[in-house]
Formats: sequence, C-alpha cells, structure tokens
Amino acid sequence: MYVIWFKRDLRVEDNAALTAVPKGAPVIPLYVYEPDYWALPDTSGQQWAFIAECLNGLGRDLARLGAPLVTRVGDVVEVMEDLRRTHGVTHLVSHEETGNLWTFARDRRVAAWARGQGVNWREVPSSGVVRRLSGRDDWAKQRDARIFAPVIDPPEHLQGPDVPSEPLPAGPADPCAGRQTGGRDQALSLLDGFLTERGRTYRSAMSSPVEGATACSRLSPHFAAGTLSIREAAMATAARQREVTDKTWKASLKSFQSRLAWRDHFIQKLEDEPRIETRCLHSAYEGLRGDDAERRGAWERGETGLPFVDACMRSLNATGWLNFRMRSMVMAVASYHLWLDWRATGPHLARMFTDYEPGIHWSQVQMQSGTTGMNTVRIYNPVKQGHDQDPTGVFTRRWVPELAPVPDVYLQEPWLWEGAQSLPYPPPIIDVKAAAQEARARIWGVRTGNAFRSEAAAVIHKHASRKDRQGRFVNDRARGGRRKPKDDKQMSFDL
Ligand SMILES: Cc1cc2nc3c(=O)[nH]c(=O)nc-3n(C[C@H](O)[C@H](O)[C@H](O)COP(=O)(O)OP(=O)(O)OC[C@H]3O[C@@H](n4cnc5c(N)ncnc54)[C@H](O)[C@@H]3O)c2cc1C
Repeated sequence: MYVIWFKRDLRVEDNAALTAVPKGAPVIPLYVYEPDYWALPDTSGQQWAFIAECLNGLGRDLARLGAPLVTRVGDVVEVMEDLRRTHGVTHLVSHEETGNLWTFARDRRVAAWARGQGVNWREVPSSGVVRRLSGRDDWAKQRDARIFAPVIDPPEHLQGPDVPSEPLPAGPADPCAGRQTGGRDQALSLLDGFLTERGRTYRSAMSSPVEGATACSRLSPHFAAGTLSIREAAMATAARQREVTDKTWKASLKSFQSRLAWRDHFIQKLEDEPRIETRCLHSAYEGLRGDDAERRGAWERGETGLPFVDACMRSLNATGWLNFRMRSMVMAVASYHLWLDWRATGPHLARMFTDYEPGIHWSQVQMQSGTTGMNTVRIYNPVKQGHDQDPTGVFTRRWVPELAPVPDVYLQEPWLWEGAQSLPYPPPIIDVKAAAQEARARIWGVRTGNAFRSEAAAVIHKHASRKDRQGRFVNDRARGGRRKPKDDKQMSFDL
C-alpha cells in the first residue's frame, strides 16, 4: 500500500509524487491537518482558509482519478503509524518540502519513523530547489534543466482503497476578509489573465501600490500551496515569450520569468541553511537590535504616524498581500527606523501574508534588515517612497482616511501641516531622517574589520547568486569560473 502525502503541492497536474506510484498499486492520497503547525507564530487562519479551499478542488480531482483524498487531523507520525497498522502501508511518497524549522523537524521525525517501520519514503522534487546541493556554481543550470522540462501529466487512474476521513477543523480564528481565494481554477485563471492581459505593464507597474495589485501575477499564494507548479508557470511564460512581438510585453515577461527563478534562488538559501529563520546570516549583526512592544504594535496596526507605512500595513492586514517594493519598505522601516529585531517583526508579516513561503520570507526579511553581510543595505525613506510610489495619494488616502483634510502637499508629512494637531491621526513615532542616520551609523559600525569581511565572504560563497551583467543567473563553470559571486557591499539610502 502506498501513501501519497500532500503537503504544499495541492494539485494532480505536474505532480511527480502521483506518477511515482506504480500503475495499479493501491494508494491513499493523504492530507494531514497538523494542529501544532497551525499554532505557530508564523502561520495564520487566512493561510489555512486558503489551503482548505485548495483541498476542495484537489479532493474533486483525486476522486475523478479514482482515489478520493483522505483527510486526517493530528500528528503526522501518529497518523502514518495508524494507516500502516490498519492498511499495511509499505511506501510513502511526497514532494521535497523546504519549509520552516518546524516542518524540517517534523520531516526528520517522519524519516525516523519510516526507517524504524521499514516504510520506504521517497521524496520527489517539485521546484528548482536542489536538495543536498554541493555548491552554487552549477545551481542555475540544474534549476533550469528541471524547470524547462515537460509538465508531468496526471496518471489516468489511481487505485484508492476505502479509507475513512476525518473532517477538517475551521483552523485558527484570524481570518482576512480581502484575501485571495484558493484552488487550482483560480490559479489557472490568474496565470491566463496575467499572460494574456494584465501582465503587459508588469515591469513598469509592479512597484505601484495601486497598479501593482493587478499588474502583478498574484500567483504567490498558489505557488506556496502548490495549486500551480513553477514549471507550469515558467513553461507557459516561455511559450508566451515566443509568441509576443510587442516590446512592452517582451520586457514584462522577461522580468516575470526572472522572478520565478528568484523564487527558487531564495528558497534554495533556506534549503541550504535552515537556521536563516532564527539566526542572522552574518553573526556580526546578532544582538544589535531588540524588541519594543509599543513601536511594534504601532507598526503592526498601521499607526506609526508615517502615512505611507501605515497605508501599506493596513492594506496588508485587509488583503493578505503587498507587492515586493512595499514589503521591502515596511520591513526596512521596522528594522532601521524603528530599530526592531527582525525576529520580532518577521512572524507578524509571515502571518499576514496569505502567500507565506518560508524560504523567500526569511531570506528577504534578513536582506531588508541588512543582516546578511552580503546584500546592498537599503534604507528606504518612507516619505520619499510615498511621493514616488503613490504620487496622487490615492492609496494613502484610501487606507488612512483620517488624513482626508490634509492638503496633497503635506500628505506624506502631515506633521508639517498647520492643522496637524486637530487630526485624529498620531504624530510620527520617530524622526524619519534622524532615525535613518542613526541606523546607518550603527549598521556601518558593524561592517568593518577582517573578521567581518572573511565571514561575509563565506556567506557570499554559499548563498550569493551567480549572475551575468543582465542580472540573469549563470553557471560559473560554463564561463570558465571567472565571474565572481555577486557581492553588493554598498549601502543605499533615499534620505
Ligand atoms: C520582507 C519580504 C517578505 C516576503 N515574503 C514572501 C513570502 O512569504 N512569500 C512569497 O511568495 N513572496 C514573498 N516575498 C517576495 C515578493 O514580495 C512576493 O513574492 C510578491 O510580492 C508576490 O506577489 P505576486 O505573486 O503577484 O508576484 P509577481 O511579481 O507576479 O512574481 C511572480 C512570482 O515570482 C516570485 N517572486 C517575485 N518576487 C520575488 C522576490 N523578490 N523574491 C523571491 N521570489 C519572488 C514569487 O513566487 C511570485 O509569486 C517577500 C518579499 C519581502 C521583501
């Protein structure tokens, strides 16, 4: 008896776990709701609600193939052991998951159980992330060989025995009314709409808080739940790239295709170094910042008195999504201006994102906090970002309606307006310029000395992308090993 353990690969198309089961072998397709996972500080009710919707569609697709989805609630090892005893399970198949430290530890327990019970557990790749990667030099080549390969068709039939399911619980009670809807149909419709209409202005509009919501693909929660594979998206994009002639389309599709590669690139970091979730990538940044519940609370609720930051945080709380630029800015403001430790703020953002993907999230959280020792330190000025990204003020006014009486010219700095005292809106909790300057001095103070540089070099060697001048990932060996890993040592400020 086989068990196909669905985790974050909730689809029957392009799913190597399904085709790993020999034809005619009896198989239990299984999803386990793990209460301990859903109680973690980085998971949330909105993520579960999205997944529950995906499971409905998956259940229908599996039933059509002949093996209805079996759902259980509890500890995976106990569930597996129960199925082994009652149904004689001998083989377990799942995708290779690069999750948070909790799922990493859980997978180790499952592996120990499988070894102990003589159950053969096979894990199959489902993205461009390479397990047990020997070094970054060949990574891009290996990733592309996997991603630009034919999509795997689902088997024609699965032999499903009669195994009782348990009803799935409602999950944690922190819903998000405006979040995206889960399910394969939604993923396909988003992909199609993006590649044929919405995506044309992707490159120029992706950073706008208003236009970005439609110009971006919005596929991230689907990639996180696995209702669509990266290969499906990359192959469909490549087909469209061959078709379009318009320059704007070409540029946008190229940008999108590279972001799909970035996804694998960032998740690969966590795969190679799971402690990225809890430890600064460069140890020199340990102990630099702390927590301040009052500041953090103001930031989380969108009540910092910095209009554009508050608008972004409130928009995130209401919709479960922000574009990349806005995510970077709110994270950078928390880490630099508010000087909060990323381990205090990162879990809140993770919970608020319907698309929480640990590999991207923790790598980006550290990158935007300047704790990697290898990336450009970017201290965004939230006032300037407000002017640049929301020039008409429509986004800021929508999410911070208290600013209705403020004239446009003062919208991003209402404290300078003569009527500020009468506004039902707090004064800024920090002085933007002074806080940025202080943060710069503190961060710069750490980035000196031979010990700092030699550890930074090791981080760069292990995690940095190998890119060509166009920013494409390259295979160093194919270039004679001459190109060095990208090392952005500069600091960048928009003070
Ligand atoms: C602090 C911070 C935390 C983040 N946390 C997450 C997270 O938990 N989950 C998540 O999916 N993305 C995360 N991102 C990356 C990025 O912001 C989102 O992937 C993107 O906004 C999702 O919207 P989209 O699907 O419309 O993206 P699109 O712009 O349409 O991009 C398509 C896909 O490419 C990938 N991608 C895009 N940008 C990046 C990037 N910078 N790095 C890696 N992959 C990328 C994503 O899988 C995305 O779905 C984070 C960024 C920052 C700065």
